[in-house]
Amino acid sequence: MPELPEVEVLVQHLRPLILKKTIRGVQIYRAKVLAPTSARAFHRCLLGATFTGLDRRGKYLVFELRPHGGGSPLSLIGHLGMTGRMYLARRGTVLPKHAAVVLRLGRADFVYEDPRYFGRLTLDSTALARLGPEPLEDRFSVDYLGAALGRSTQAVKVKLLDQSLVAGVGNIYASEALFRAQISPRLSARKLTARQVARLRREVRAVLREAIRWGSTLPLHHGQASGGDGLFYFGRAANALDFYEERLRVYDREGQPCERCGTVIRRLVQAARSTFYCPRCQPDSQKQRMGRQNPSDSITTKNKLTVTSVADRLRVRLGSRVAQW
Ligand SMILES: [Zn+2]
Repeated sequence: MPELPEVEVLVQHLRPLILKKTIRGVQIYRAKVLAPTSARAFHRCLLGATFTGLDRRGKYLVFELRPHGGGSPLSLIGHLGMTGRMYLARRGTVLPKHAAVVLRLGRADFVYEDPRYFGRLTLDSTALARLGPEPLEDRFSVDYLGAALGRSTQAVKVKLLDQSLVAGVGNIYASEALFRAQISPRLSARKLTARQVARLRREVRAVLREAIRWGSTLPLHHGQASGGDGLFYFGRAANALDFYEERLRVYDREGQPCERCGTVIRRLVQAARSTFYCPRCQPDSQKQRMGRQNPSDSITTKNKLTVTSVADRLRVRLGSRVAQW
């Protein structure tokens, strides 16, 4: 499921392609994705409108448009859900089976396809009002995060997924940030020390920035005709060579050695989502951190990493990804 970095990379890619383009036709194949906007209102508002901007808020794409004949600007809100894609396809390209909405832009079509129809493309922007601060903006301060976590008895990993606490962080980057900050995903949110809060904020921002920077360099195949995936899910371009494998350290790495200490990465389920963590680097208590580690739990990182072939790693990743969805 795309998170903030994946959506940001997509926004940066789409922005120059749609700017100043006028919508000359609106085709709706799945009215469900427009909800609560009706198909009729969607069609009426967008036909003849011109794209004036595209931004991201959390995991949402926010398209700005100038309506046909003037009037107040429109916001079109997109969300990719679990498997949605948004891209430009050359006019005349055969539409994918799961096309939900197509906007005719002259020589190109803006295509939104979504095999599971969990995503959205709507004129209703109320979802944005419920979002917490952007993690890369100043409002996401240590004081803010400390106060917000301090009010919650939920496990810190679960709380990080709360979009009203911070917008755009999902399952992958929450696991990664907690690993980097060396905080147990099971720790009650209000039990984090001031130092842990500061570390967590820093690592959330660092991992998101790295993912955006790295994702921006990938040879993504945004168009359906190219056969590519169009997004760098989990930090890895579809069908990419190992060179492009992402740099995630715990996510989807159950059973592999921790790169920091060699302990086997574990998976646990929290609020129906998988969490990946290193039990040694992210102990549940300080006491456990000080205690000696059970040797049977450890693998010599160096040996294990050198024997794991590229193919094995890819297979493991692809297999567990299917299970995740
Ligand atoms: Zn470790």
